[in-house]
Amino acid sequence: MTTRSDTTTALNRLLAEIEHRNPAQPEFHQAAHEVLETLAPVIAARPEYAEPGLVERLVEPERQVIFRVPWQDDQGRVHVNRGFRVEFNSALGPYKGGLRFHSSVNLGVIKFLGFEQIFKNALTGLGIGGGKGGSDFDPHGRSDAEVMRFCQSFMTELYRHIGEHTDVPAGDIGVGGREIGYLFGQYRRITNRWEAGVLTGKGQGWGGSLIRPEATGYGNVLFAAAMMRERGEDLEGQTAVVSGSGNVAIYTIEKLAALGANAVTCSDSSGYVVDEKGIDLDLLKQIKEVERGRVDAYAERRGASARFVPGGRVWDVPADIALPSATQNELNEADAETLIRNGVKAVSEGANMPATPEAVHLLQKAGVAFGPGKAANAGGVAVSALEMAQNHARTSWTAARVEEELTHIMNDIHTTCHETAERYEAPGDYVTGANIAGFERVADAMLAQGVI
Ligand code: NDP
Repeated sequence: MTTRSDTTTALNRLLAEIEHRNPAQPEFHQAAHEVLETLAPVIAARPEYAEPGLVERLVEPERQVIFRVPWQDDQGRVHVNRGFRVEFNSALGPYKGGLRFHSSVNLGVIKFLGFEQIFKNALTGLGIGGGKGGSDFDPHGRSDAEVMRFCQSFMTELYRHIGEHTDVPAGDIGVGGREIGYLFGQYRRITNRWEAGVLTGKGQGWGGSLIRPEATGYGNVLFAAAMMRERGEDLEGQTAVVSGSGNVAIYTIEKLAALGANAVTCSDSSGYVVDEKGIDLDLLKQIKEVERGRVDAYAERRGASARFVPGGRVWDVPADIALPSATQNELNEADAETLIRNGVKAVSEGANMPATPEAVHLLQKAGVAFGPGKAANAGGVAVSALEMAQNHARTSWTAARVEEELTHIMNDIHTTCHETAERYEAPGDYVTGANIAGFERVADAMLAQGVI
């Protein structure tokens, strides 16, 4: 019989091997630790999961593609970026996960995101596997024509590896509606196929789903609301701090307002804005989505209620709930201490892995409800899967229908994580609940499909 301590020893050995075999990939190591460190109870309780090689297969991507992306800027200079697609696990369905264009992208970052995606996608219950991709290309300050040429070059290689039944990319940091449009156009041109289901996050009128742009932010707020309900509270009247000012942050702020909460911050890599009256979404959308500007412009134009803090961290602003929505490791131990000191009740991750392990530990120890990204931000990929379903049926649903489905999915994910945590004697621990529930679904499918 396998005991919990034997299992923990075996998992620790595997973690050491992961670090050894994947050098210089700290984000991937962090994500693997975060998941594997919570799996001992379920592996010890269900002997089939102790089968040699199961977890070892889970931490090794099925396929990793790295390619050259040459493109010319407006002055005719040639740039060479690196493109990635990591197809991590397809036991539950075609690989599904976004593309990230950011200067910090490397193989380790894409592997951490792809690994997280396996469990997140499993939690949605929608039959999608896990993958992720992107490039170290930085779209900031590039003209539309440069972004288009880059996207065309990127797709000229990527098209070989994707397809509606194979691998379905979407957006992430630096990849929004504009980039998905250019990528889809090039895919269509090269393949001579109208294959709407090959990419999600498409525009309205050519295969996009209503509520897809809103889905990640809305979903995270719905998850936070469910955690608050569990504590006998709701979001009405609560003050929120939100980081980021991109897709996820904007629609997080929008949904918070709809539920009666007040988001008082947003940020980008230059610093943050605090607005006592609450963030004015029309102004933020104008600056970020239309002008593609920086957040200091918000403070300049908003008037006396707002100020810009260069290089600062939104976590210094007192709030009832915190929704990190920018990037990985943006909320560290010191930030967690500040949030706790200021009386935060819930932290829900809109971004992927924004809280460091030390921060998560502190928050949970202090009794703060903590929603891990793989559960809390699953609304985006869930509506992407609904976009695929609409594309397949050649139909489009109303916004009300998509939002109803999204609400149902987020509540269901919350319940699954909550109940799984209780079943494994970790009540209130959504990290353990999400990891184990996602693992069970993927592991069952992998066991049924044999050693592949
Ligand atoms: P966007 O590119 O739309 O926005 C990203 C925001 O985060 C920008 O405000 C950006 O500021 C800021 N940011 C990015 N990197 C850094 C950094 N290194 N330091 C400080 N600020 C940074 O991306 P999304 O809103 O789509 O994604 C945000 C997070 O949500 C990511 O972790 C992503 O993986 C996650 N996510 C996104 C989903 C989606 O549907 N889009 C789905 C699930 C998770 P600046 O412009 O200055 O770089």
